[in-house]
Amino acid sequence: MKQECDVQSTWDAIVIGAGVAGLAAAQELVLAGRSVLVLDKARRPGGRCATRRTAPAPDAPWFDLGAQYFTQRDARFREALEALPGAAVFQLWQGRLGAVSEDGSLQPSSPDHRRYVCAGGMNALGRSLAGAVVAAGGELQTGCHVVAVAREGSCWVVTDADGQAERASCLVVAIPGPQASELLGGHFPRTCSPDMTPCLSMVVRVQETLDYDGIFMNDPVLDWAANNHSKPGHPGGDGALWTLHAQPDFSAEALATGAVEHAHASMLRAFRRLGELTLQPVATQSWRFARPAQSAAPGFYRDADQGLALCGDWLNGGRVEGAWLSGHQLGCELAAAAATRPGPAGG
Ligand code: FAD
Repeated sequence: MKQECDVQSTWDAIVIGAGVAGLAAAQELVLAGRSVLVLDKARRPGGRCATRRTAPAPDAPWFDLGAQYFTQRDARFREALEALPGAAVFQLWQGRLGAVSEDGSLQPSSPDHRRYVCAGGMNALGRSLAGAVVAAGGELQTGCHVVAVAREGSCWVVTDADGQAERASCLVVAIPGPQASELLGGHFPRTCSPDMTPCLSMVVRVQETLDYDGIFMNDPVLDWAANNHSKPGHPGGDGALWTLHAQPDFSAEALATGAVEHAHASMLRAFRRLGELTLQPVATQSWRFARPAQSAAPGFYRDADQGLALCGDWLNGGRVEGAWLSGHQLGCELAAAAATRPGPAGG
């Protein structure tokens, strides 16, 4: 028997994914008075704005494994961050930028735009956005892996790995394109290209001092290297913690052939070309879906008839700011649509 959503539904909207995009969309919906449930499979919100520590202690040195910094080119993003509680954590990164030139020497790189980071690690962005959603009345469940979504009548039924089901009139899918495609199956919009490129990430302790804090490596193996100790609020420690990011093609090859350990050794060798460095590996992460493969993208996707919406960096040119704008613009559109229509649905 089909269930009518206006009778059975628990939520006006369910948002799958508590990264920057999903949280930005949820915030607009909650502020518009919608009942919103945000689900994320990870233990903490923030997604690819990921920070880890060298030990469980809260004062242990931290490092950013995913996004390294963000831009604030769009005034809406800047103003939204300034309005968040604890906005002081968003600070200009004053790191010295360098680039490896064709002859292998390190040269200063003039900053093309201001780069911002979170004092205490990039994950603070997810924490702050999630705090704002919950403070405004939204609900966030972490450690909740959504494994199935189905349309029943005018509802979406969302089921997690423990078999728990939730219902809503509007479904917002805010997870990387390939995962959205797999979860939505035949509901995935044909107009969206889900392709994304991977990135092998590695954190190493470096005893020597380098002349730069962020380095464009221009190397077939390494893309980027950054000194976490140069970021505001870092407690320091024995040796500096450097994050190394591999090139997309190199990462794809390593993941496809299963030669990830070998790839990590190549990353260390590539970094050592900067000088006689003493490197101690601290952590690794394989991001299967790091960045969108295509730069031209629609911003977000919405099918008002189906009550289905998608957002995320992969629909808006990549990057933290692109992810936030994708979710924010979608959330504003859903909130406006709900305001002009009677009933609970915001789809
Ligand atoms: P995500 O952050 O991926 O959030 C998606 C969320 O969905 C995750 O929390 C995940 O746990 C959850 N999820 C997925 N599937 C499910 C499921 N089935 N059920 C429940 N939850 C699910 N951007 C910059 O601006 N500057 C940088 O320097 C930069 N560097 C980067 C370096 C690396 C190595 C990587 C990987 C990314 C980098 N980016 C950078 C990109 C930036 O991190 C992303 O653009 C942004 O964080 C994407 O946010 P999002 O909300 O779209 O997706």
